[in-house]
Amino acid sequence: MHTEKLGGFTGLGLDERLVATLTELGYEEPTPIQREAIPPLLAGRDVLGHAATGTGKTAAFALPLLQRIAAQEGARGHTSALVLVPTRELAMQVADAVRTYGRALGIRVLPVYGGQAIGAQLRALRNGAEVVIATPGRALDHIRRDTLALDQVRTVVLDEADEMLDMGFAEELEAILEAVPATRQTALFSATVPPRIRGIAARHLTDPVHVAIARDGAVAGAVPLVRQTAHIVARTHKVDALARVLDVEHPTSALVFCRTRTEVDELTDALTGRGYRAEGLHGGLSQEQRDRVMKKMRAGAIDLLIATDVAARGLDIEHLSHVVNYDVPSAPEAYVHRIGRTGRAGREGVAITLAEPREHRLLRNIERVTKQTIEIATLPSVADLRARRLERTAAAVRDALASGELDAYRAVIHALAGERDVADIAAAALKLAANARRTRDEVEIPSPALRPNAERRSEAGTHQPRERRERVDGRWRAGPPRERGRAQRHPEWEVTRLFVGAGRKAGIRPGDLVGAIANEVGIDSSAIGAIEIADRFSLVEVPDEIIEDVITALRGTTIKGKRVTVRRDLGPTR
Ligand code: AMP
Repeated sequence: MHTEKLGGFTGLGLDERLVATLTELGYEEPTPIQREAIPPLLAGRDVLGHAATGTGKTAAFALPLLQRIAAQEGARGHTSALVLVPTRELAMQVADAVRTYGRALGIRVLPVYGGQAIGAQLRALRNGAEVVIATPGRALDHIRRDTLALDQVRTVVLDEADEMLDMGFAEELEAILEAVPATRQTALFSATVPPRIRGIAARHLTDPVHVAIARDGAVAGAVPLVRQTAHIVARTHKVDALARVLDVEHPTSALVFCRTRTEVDELTDALTGRGYRAEGLHGGLSQEQRDRVMKKMRAGAIDLLIATDVAARGLDIEHLSHVVNYDVPSAPEAYVHRIGRTGRAGREGVAITLAEPREHRLLRNIERVTKQTIEIATLPSVADLRARRLERTAAAVRDALASGELDAYRAVIHALAGERDVADIAAAALKLAANARRTRDEVEIPSPALRPNAERRSEAGTHQPRERRERVDGRWRAGPPRERGRAQRHPEWEVTRLFVGAGRKAGIRPGDLVGAIANEVGIDSSAIGAIEIADRFSLVEVPDEIIEDVITALRGTTIKGKRVTVRRDLGPTR
């Protein structure tokens, strides 16, 4: 029974017309943030909401403000609610959502943002939109020109307040909040609540109700169905690794996240230089440049958007097939935000992370916080790449067969059929077609944790390091722990000895150390050298290249249930 199911929304005190719209939208139950924020907002209270995108927060603030406008005599024909958002994309998105939620009430909603023709905005504002969704800069422009009247504003919402601050809108926010009537209601939503946000809340919110929603509170179904994989690669091979991933995955549209503007520019150059259709997007671009890039992306003229977190926030791109993290974001929230860009609307999405060996620890942390598994997989090999290319060529052949118009080609087959078997001719044609898709050299990309110092050594012309790989379903597994004296020394690797402050008396066996190191650092156990166990301590040889990672990882964990001292061994090398 619908009414029973929607008891949730009705029970929050929402107008039945709004509830009916929610039914049409297929919302069955309020999300946690909606359950907690809607009643106080309807009652006119201020709210400080600690919630990220994907939790249903737009409806949480939109429904009450719509209801308040509908319920108030004389609220029509002037701006009654002002919602501030960080980007124009978000302004459009939120305006669409608010319009949808309020469609049964006939309330006018207007997005206002920079870059839009001001004349059209002025006309729309003069016509009296009850809800204005604006970016802070443009809102302040209008306020200063007296084209946006705030005297009747009863509700102000700051959406993604942390982002607005990150984008440098602090002054605009202060000015706007000073300009609205002191009696208005204020709701502030932010994915993170750093001191600066708390400061704004303290200055501009009155006795707010605090609502904090963990990411776990995200809307079921809105949480994307995302396949999450990570590849461990050395910094020097990251561009190659990304190219390999792109060649194998063949995304229809992908967003690649970088940490900095410089990285965005460099990576964009590197990828376009290799023939990918990529464009960069970051805060250093003008609005026109941004618009141009977005237009190209929407028109399908580019396949890859390389962006910083801030620039990507609120981007209105439908159906990203892939999100790639060119690095591991240090905050799990940022990771969640990034991968939330794919797998929308029930589609399957793919999130691929390139992690440097030292970033392995961050992946673990993200897994812990998100309670989701990120599969650590080897980079696709050249053989994988070729197999995928053949699959795609076969699919293209099927399409060509379906679309017909093959007469001209059939004539060639007839001519060749006199010389060779038709299946051979088809195979040769397929080979040519597959090779035509080949765009660059194909070489294996080394995996750092498995082949320490491989590059340095091969450059020096000495022998290659031994490789003992165990691959199960594309995942690296540490091999079974071997006993003392196992892997004497690897003369081809520079090894450093690790001191571990627990030994025989603590019940430590070589397998415990191998297991701890292999699991925590995510390296193959064959990378671990000789192990000596004394009464009170142990010494373990590990490749010098990863010793810092090993130390960091072991310091963050326990061995046999205990925290132990871990450092470089200072003793003499025997
Ligand atoms: P938001 O956090 O506002 O960006 O919302 C995330 C997604 O959840 C949007 O696609 C909403 O349409 C959807 N959504 C919001 N509230 C509900 C609900 N109560 N039930 C189902 N979906 C919802």
